[in-house]
Amino acid sequence: MIVVMEHKASQELVDAVTVRLKQLGFDNHLSVGVERTIIGAIGEKRPEYIEQLAAMPGVEKIVPILKPFKLAGREFHSEPSQVRVGDVIIGGEEIVVMAGPCAVESEEQLLETAREVKKNGAHILRGGAFKPRTSPYSFQGLEEDGLRILAAARRETGLPVVTEIVNPRDVELVAQYADMLQVGARNMQNFTLLREVGKCQKPVLLKRGLAATVEEWLMAAEYIISSGNDNVVLCERGIRTYETGTRNTLDLSAVPAIKHYSHLPIIVDPSHGTGRWRYVLPMARAAIAAGADGLMIEVHCRPEEALSDGAQSLTPMNFQQLMEETKVLAQAIGRKIGSLTVV
Ligand code: PEP
Ligand code: MN
Repeated sequence: MIVVMEHKASQELVDAVTVRLKQLGFDNHLSVGVERTIIGAIGEKRPEYIEQLAAMPGVEKIVPILKPFKLAGREFHSEPSQVRVGDVIIGGEEIVVMAGPCAVESEEQLLETAREVKKNGAHILRGGAFKPRTSPYSFQGLEEDGLRILAAARRETGLPVVTEIVNPRDVELVAQYADMLQVGARNMQNFTLLREVGKCQKPVLLKRGLAATVEEWLMAAEYIISSGNDNVVLCERGIRTYETGTRNTLDLSAVPAIKHYSHLPIIVDPSHGTGRWRYVLPMARAAIAAGADGLMIEVHCRPEEALSDGAQSLTPMNFQQLMEETKVLAQAIGRKIGSLTVV
């Protein structure tokens, strides 16, 4: 439920309500707005508790939360959240671009790609060290060596690093090297993993499951936030439909839907969303037009030699074009990408 405090209720009155909520066994989440303070309370809603709280000085009303996602929802957190990754803010005016190869294949490959994406204005470097592959015979990633290479690329370029975590036991290891932990589509409902990444304070990029509804996705975010970590960014990466002309069906309507139901930032991954490099730029443009807070783009210097996802990887030249074109679009809708201005 939500306890809505009266307009300009004093700090003492707010404190008294939070103390009482704790006594009654509720978990409190305070949201201090310009107009008024509201307190999200999660716990057992006995009618007598609601009456007692409603009678407290400074309380305007008690409102039930209707959606099953409470911490991820907008009902008691109406302002959009911003998530910081290194010095990069996701969910602000700037559209954040995460770019890099699907997988870290070698030090040379990653550093070469990292320099290219940095040069073209990417904000965050991506690259998988633990790869959740459909086939056990496919390249599975360089694991800790891959993490070391990512850290070396961060040292050289200054770009923060996002990388996938697949095993709940590896949170500490991956968090030592990465600036943001990615939970991949295949693990969106790995509740043990969600709880574990929720126990650390690193920002989490939560990709949408292959067949997950928006509500299931937000409930997955709820697992992370309710475990103690509210630094969650969502990533739409396409869902499974009957269409086979593209790898997945990129559900861009999820962007306004998430914005409606949740305060969490949302980015879009048109690389996995389409599976074809030619479709990546048009869908990146569409994602920005739909209101996405960022993009995740796979880039490889030689896609024809990539150990995974070469067909959907942009060359540095194509990535440069994507950055230039999306910049114009971002300006047109009152946002920006990078510091370059359009001439
Ligand atoms: C990835 O980002 O490399 C990846 C495996 O993505 P997804 O989990 O969306 O398939
Ligand atoms: Mn990939």
